Amino acid sequence: MAERIAEEKINQIRQSVDIVEIISEYIQLKKQGRNYFGLCPFHGENSPSFSVSSDKQIYHCFGCGAGGNVFSFLMELEGISFLEAAIKLAEKANIDLQVNFSVNGKGKSVSPELQSMLDAHELLTKFYHHLLVNTKDGQHAFEYLLKRGFTRESIDKFQIGYSLNSWDFVYKFLTKREFSPEIMEKAGLIIKRDRDGTYFDRFRDRIMFPIFDRNGNSIAFSGRSLGAEEPKYLNSPETAIFNKSKILYNFHLAKPSIRKLQQAVLFEGFADVIAADKSGVENGIATMGTSLTEEHITLIRQNTQSVTICFDSDKAGIEAAYRAGNMLMDAGCAIKVAMMSDGLDPDEYIKKNGPEKFRNEVIGASLTWMAFKFLYFRRGKNLQIEGERLAYIETILKEISKLTKAVEKDHYLRQLASEFSISLDALQQQLKQIFFAEKRNSSGQNQQPVNKPRVMAKQENKLKPAHYTAERRLIAHMLKDRDTAYKVQDLLQGSTFNTDEHQAIITYLIGFYEDRMNPDSSAFLTYIQDENLRRIVADIEMMSINDELSNQELTDYIKQVLNYQKLLKIKEKEVELKEAERQSDYSKAAAIATEISQLRKSL
Ligand SMILES: [Zn+2]
Repeated sequence: MAERIAEEKINQIRQSVDIVEIISEYIQLKKQGRNYFGLCPFHGENSPSFSVSSDKQIYHCFGCGAGGNVFSFLMELEGISFLEAAIKLAEKANIDLQVNFSVNGKGKSVSPELQSMLDAHELLTKFYHHLLVNTKDGQHAFEYLLKRGFTRESIDKFQIGYSLNSWDFVYKFLTKREFSPEIMEKAGLIIKRDRDGTYFDRFRDRIMFPIFDRNGNSIAFSGRSLGAEEPKYLNSPETAIFNKSKILYNFHLAKPSIRKLQQAVLFEGFADVIAADKSGVENGIATMGTSLTEEHITLIRQNTQSVTICFDSDKAGIEAAYRAGNMLMDAGCAIKVAMMSDGLDPDEYIKKNGPEKFRNEVIGASLTWMAFKFLYFRRGKNLQIEGERLAYIETILKEISKLTKAVEKDHYLRQLASEFSISLDALQQQLKQIFFAEKRNSSGQNQQPVNKPRVMAKQENKLKPAHYTAERRLIAHMLKDRDTAYKVQDLLQGSTFNTDEHQAIITYLIGFYEDRMNPDSSAFLTYIQDENLRRIVADIEMMSINDELSNQELTDYIKQVLNYQKLLKIKEKEVELKEAERQSDYSKAAAIATEISQLRKSL
């Protein structure tokens, strides 16, 4: 992906697309005053704090701090590179980039080797599917699937197929089409024999489930045996295009529904996803035989804040649900857990009880995370025995003490009180003790907060010192006007802004102006490499400032920036003064005192 797009093309793209139009394809925007507002796609929320400026062609979320221009919007939302975002936008604007990318129709550009792997997967996905649904060779597999409750709709929707019972069919099929055997081996489709260097097919006589990436490219397969053949499921190995820790099965199809419902259902395996989909649960996803990773969670969090975990209701499944739930909680998700009776898995449950019951009594009646923990911690305990009962109550009280909402605490305390016929007062007393004991334990240690509070940019600003606000206002004016930028730099007389990020932004900005660029919010955001700085710039751009910066205002802000450095100096000197006094070095103390009073006067 070494290709670059010329600067002027990037500018042309930026000028031809409208950020309001692009973002409107993803979320509903409403005009309010000069800007547009909507629900932020980067964090779950009920009241709109996501704003888009048509004048400046930028967006900013006051809730989570996301911000940038039309390129960064697509990059963050779709998880794609700058180049990919540019190609996508160029297509929309009908701009010919005149560069030789191999583009796979979804605006994704990749190296020839990766493209060849993707092409082979696409071809085989179609061919396997054709074999299953249209040919005599695949008929037994097709019937097998129908007998197991698969419908023709889901076979088509999930592109399920069949691989022939042959050692070299795929090898011949691909090499005849000029795919390189070396690359096909790297793609996991064929395997090289050690003894003579010849190749054979990885998947033989199996039902083929293609695995797609988030853009809908087929990148791997899981092959299910039809009989007693082991392993029951044979998966593609990890390859340059298939990274299990990043892939969520069905994500590309589930995404619109996850967004619409603001809810994802996480299953343990892809077969559950297909079974649930057939029952009308279309927002299901699953990991590919690995536990949940940070990368999976990031992908989920970009689309919704709330997740229902629906794992097998056996021992292993419940343990896995507990682990996944804790990870998702730490990432700020709201969790529910869907449980099925008799240790069933979703597929079995649906076969036994039907789709409607699954929707209403499993997914629809999911437990809250706390209610799940009530069940989780009582497994294997005999609560008739006093000692075990008390230990259980104590464990649950510890969990309750971590809850942040008073109403929730009260609710679960009452539940505990009524179940074990204990007075609410006694439980509240014990909860207090636990709370203080935990506090004592954690003081002095760097303990992680139980529920990470979501970043509230607005509230943070209120607590910031005067120089911080002054620096932001100066940057806002510097962004609008080149002369102001140079003027501020002169007035600082070699001093820097006190906030590192602010200083970095003005360094970029001066560089931007030196490159003879005119003030342009969106162009500047492309110019900045750092995502964090981009967010801050978008935040600053959304501040309301006066059109003109008066000289009075300018000198006031500069003074606040410089004063802060003097105040720091004064504090430093005061420490030195105390030290000199302690050592009875009175002449030194007097000298320092004079310095301090001079510094004070200059404020
Ligand atoms: Zn947000």
